[in-house]
This record gives sequence, structure tokens and C-alpha cells, in this order.
Amino acid sequence: MKCEPTDVPPVENIDIPAMREKYRRERDKRLNSAGQKQYVQPVGDFEEAYAGDPHMPVLPRDPITSEIDVAILGGGISGVLAGVELNKAGISNFSNIDHAGDFGGVWYWNRYPGIQCDNDAYCYLPLLEEMGHMPASKFSEGWEIYEYVQSIARRFKLYDKALFHTLVEGVRWDETIQRWRIATDRGDDIRARFVIMANGLLNIPKLPGIPGIHDFRGKMFHTARWEYDYTGGDWKNQVLDKLVDKRVAIVGTGATAIQAIPHLGKYAKQLYVLQRTPSTVDVRRNTPTDPDWARSLQPGWQKERQVNFHRAAMEGLLRPGEPDLVCDFWTELARNLSAQLDAEGWPAITPEEYAARREVMDYQVMERLRLRVEAIVRDRDTAEALKPWYRFLCKRPLSNENYLETFNLPNVKLVDVSGTKGVEGMTEKGFLAGGVEHEIDCMIFASGFEVTSDLDRRWGIGKYEGRNGLSIYDHWNEEYKTLHGIMTHNFPNQFFVGYYQGGLNATTTLQYGRQCHHIAYIIREALQRGVTAVEPSVEAQAEWVQHLRSTAIDNTQWVRECTPSYFNNEGEAQLTSSGVEKYRFYLGEAYGPGWDAFEKLLQDWRDKGDLAGLTLTTGKQ
Ligand code: NDP
Repeated sequence: MKCEPTDVPPVENIDIPAMREKYRRERDKRLNSAGQKQYVQPVGDFEEAYAGDPHMPVLPRDPITSEIDVAILGGGISGVLAGVELNKAGISNFSNIDHAGDFGGVWYWNRYPGIQCDNDAYCYLPLLEEMGHMPASKFSEGWEIYEYVQSIARRFKLYDKALFHTLVEGVRWDETIQRWRIATDRGDDIRARFVIMANGLLNIPKLPGIPGIHDFRGKMFHTARWEYDYTGGDWKNQVLDKLVDKRVAIVGTGATAIQAIPHLGKYAKQLYVLQRTPSTVDVRRNTPTDPDWARSLQPGWQKERQVNFHRAAMEGLLRPGEPDLVCDFWTELARNLSAQLDAEGWPAITPEEYAARREVMDYQVMERLRLRVEAIVRDRDTAEALKPWYRFLCKRPLSNENYLETFNLPNVKLVDVSGTKGVEGMTEKGFLAGGVEHEIDCMIFASGFEVTSDLDRRWGIGKYEGRNGLSIYDHWNEEYKTLHGIMTHNFPNQFFVGYYQGGLNATTTLQYGRQCHHIAYIIREALQRGVTAVEPSVEAQAEWVQHLRSTAIDNTQWVRECTPSYFNNEGEAQLTSSGVEKYRFYLGEAYGPGWDAFEKLLQDWRDKGDLAGLTLTTGKQ
């Protein structure tokens, strides 16, 4: 496939030292010594709004006491994939437990206007060939993903076992019965032999700790709990007609905000966009799926596409002669670098030479994106404020055909709050900027989620205790300790899906699915062998952590120099007990040799069949 050229051509001549210095200044301007504490959890006035469910009534039910083989904490894509893999492993006595009213996870909660997936749907949506499903377009609508996830849950018979509108409050290993005891806000006592933590990355909304936030008397909500009753419309019909006489402000300009802002700009009487750090916003070119292309696909096409996307987006280079199948803003750097090497006949280059070339290309692409702002936004000051000054991938790259254009509307005003490290304050009637009060009717928080903050904030589960009352929050306080990123010592029969210590794939859902496959294998083996408890030995865990760290690609400098965001826990450095400077990175600790090597390592481990490194307890229960 030949990729279409970008709408603004790449820029070749750039003063890189000057730009590096500019990036540093912009980053420093945004660094906030409060770190993660600048955010507050939805408590007090907000608690009810976030504990409740604006999408579906929460019906009363009696508490449940049950014994099951596996509790899957979460019903998002990772939770559904855990169910699929258990099902395929012949395990049926399990239950997904979720705070939401249905399967879907982030695609259940997030229904704000404009919501689409920013990733190529042909890669992102799992099990497309097995499900016989073809997405309607390259970037799927939120509701399309939600309905697709539901269809997987139906197909793999997850519904009759699921517990929805059930918030897990406590998880505790009970040695006497060799089971996990799960306590919920419904008063349940669920005793599960195994627990799979499939709780996702973006499940707990956070709010900016703006001085005076509780004084505001108008309407306020977070984008993950969009109130269509107030705005008008719904997520399949984004006509926000109740906003025509409303003055609205939105905090944030991340992936969520840039999708919602065009809709707010279109309907609100007045829209203020309170921006601290601009995003990179490229051309989107969302195209409907071409039926001829879909018919031409051969079995195995999704895997082939995911492999190709992984090379471009994660490994950073295509192979000689390999086309870029995904052809979007995620793959541009690798596409351009591969084209350079192609023109040179693919000379062998060292990792250092690659890094140097990539850095130059990074500056060129970022400059192109800044020029794109200039080409679209008419007001010079607004355009300047909308230009991003950091390296590509320091924040999530975005694409949208209506976002920058919205700032040309007369009712839309960008308010740059970078100088005060965020919104200055709120009052009864509105917000403060430059000491001036701006009256509004509604404040919308597109302020993100607890992603890299402390684990208890991220998980939102009050008590989480393994053997001898050991809290996972203490156990992992300083750093993760796992075997293969999936299990940890003193937490028997406990499995983690997500970004901890293992192989990274550019397609999140693929990574989750493979982790679930491995987990289902261990659970099946344990059940078949009559094992009551399985956990990594201290030695095997230490060996894995050592191997992981000794083969890791050190990204500390890159993460340190990035603009603060949830990607790097707001740029907050931590010193380990051995005095090493570390930054929490949202993708956890990656396996340096790469995804294919990690997959092979786990496959070889399973093929040997001896559950090496795991301690098995039998016959206690
Ligand atoms: P983000 O964390 O990316 O953005 C939060 C925004 O709020 C930032 O712009 C941040 O500014 C701003 N903010 C926070 N506090 C303040 C403050 N005190 N004053 C002013 N501004 C403030 O959250 P999102 O919900 O946008 O996105 C989270 C993630 O969700 C994405 O990165 C992506 O992974 C996922 N997502 C995916 C989508 C998809 O298509 N697949 C769509 C939407 C979201 P600053 O940048 O300065 O910190």
C-alpha cells in the first residue's frame, strides 16, 4: 500500500540545538512540584457522580456468597479476553466482576461526543477473523467498539457469569481456605481460587486540584461520565442542542478533549478551552472500510497487520521492501526512516546511528505538525499557543480533522494556562485566568485518569492483601517484582494483565490477549494437577527481574526530558533505595529484547511443561 502524503510536507532544515533548548524550557515551565498530588480523586461533592453510573440504572440486589475457580476483576477488553482464554482452556467456573453496568471497560464509561479509537481498528479490535467481524472504518466509533466487545462476551458466554455494577473494595488471600476473598460494595463475599487483575489502565478518573473547585455552583462533570441530559444528544447522535445558551469551559487538551471540543465548539454559546500543554494533532483521514479490500484479505491478515504495525510503531523500522500497511500518524517516523534507508540500499547501522537519525526525524515531524497548526488556525497568538514543543510520543499523538479548525469559530477561545501550571482557580461563577473571572455555566474535566500515580490510587481497591496480610501497595511500593510481569511472590493464584514487567506490543489488545493466554495456561495446569496454590519462588522472581533489567533499553533520559504528563508520572523522579533515579513510565518495564523474544520465551516455558520458577502447593484444601 502506498501511503498518502501528509497535508503539510515534512520540514528539513531545523536548528536542532535551538529546538532542544526550547523543548527544555517548555518542559520546565510545566513541571509541577506537586507531581501526582496536583490531582484529586473524585471525593466530596463529586463522589456520587463517579461512584454512580450515568449510563444505566444501578438496580438493588442481595449480597452474594459464592465459590468460583476464577474471578476476573474487570469487564473491559482485557477482562473479556481473559474470559475468552479461560473458555478456550476449558475452564468455565469463572466470573467477570465490574463496576460498570456491562462489558466494555473504557468503551462503556467513555461516551463523550466524538469518541473514536485513535488506533487502526483493523489492529486494535481483537479477534476480528475469529469473530468474522470487519470494522466499519479505519478509526472506530466508541459505540461500535462497545457493541463489538459485547458481541465477543456473548459469543464466549461471559454474560451469565458476570457481576456488573459491583465495585470491588477488598481482595484478601485466605490461607485457611487457599482462596481469595473478594469483598464488594454490594456486600458480596466471593471466594475465588484464582484472581485475574484485568482492571485496565484508564479506569479511575482524576480531577485537577484547582483552588476553589468546590466553590463553583454551576454544572461540572468528567468526560468519562458525560451527562447528555445536560448537554443534549447522545453518543450516537452528537447534537448538543441544550448547550446553545450555555457558556462552557473544558479543562484539558489530551486525546479525549480534542475529540469532544469540535462538538462543544459547534453547539455551545461560548467555549473556553483551558490548555496547559498542547497535543500533536495530525490529519486523520478516517476512511470507511473498502469492501473490495476486505474481500481480498487472506486468513492470517490481522496478525500480519499487527506485526507490521508493531515494527513501525514500536520497533521503529520496517523491513527492507516491507510496505507500511497502517499508514497513519503512528507510523510516519518509521516509514520515513525506512524510506531513507531504502534509498541508501539498507546499509547496516548501529543502534546509536539509528537513534541519531530518529532524533532528527522526530524534530522534522514535530516541526511539520507545528506548521500544520499555523496553516489551519487563523489567529496568530492562538496558533502559537497550540504548537507542541516536545518530542514525538512524549504525549499520545493524535489526529483529528476538526479540532484545530474549531479555534477559528468566533465563540471559541483558547485560554493558555501553562504559565500558572494549570487553571488558576475557580469561583462560584466560573474560573480565573490572569486574575480575571470568566463566568461559565458548565465546567467539563477532560483531565484524564490515574495511570502512573500510586498503585492504590490507580486500582481504587481499599485493601489488597496477599500472604500474611502483605499489602500489594507495600509490596510494590518502590518497584514491581514479578515473574514475567504476570505473577508475584506472596500473592498466590494471582495474575496481572497490563503493563508491568514484560514484552510490549504496539497493539495493546494483542498484548493483553497474549498475557491472558499465558495465564489461562497456568490456571489450567494448576487445576489439572490438583494444585491449590501456585506462585513464583523468590529466586525465580529475582532472576526474572535481574534478567529484565540487565537487558532493558534505558529510556530514563528520554522520559526525563519529556513534557510532564501521565506518561512519566508528571515528570516526578523517584530515587530507589539504591539511589538510582527512576521515572514511572506508563508502559511499565519493557522487555529489552522485544516482543517476539518475549513471546518465544513464554512459549518455550509453556512447551517445557514444568512450570519452572513456580512453587506449587497441593492438598491443603
Ligand atoms: P490526558 O491525561 O491525556 O489529558 C489530561 C488533560 O488535562 C491534559 O491536557 C492536561 O494538561 C490537562 N490538565 C490536567 N490538569 C490540569 C490543570 N490543573 N489545568 C489545566 N489542564 C489540566 O487524558 P485524556 O482523557 O485526554 O486521555 C487519556 C488517555 O486515554 C489517552 O492518552 C489515551 O491513551 C486514552 N484515550 C484514547 C482514545 C483512543 O482513541 N483510543 C481517545 C481518548 C483517550 P497537561 O497535558 O499539561 O498535563
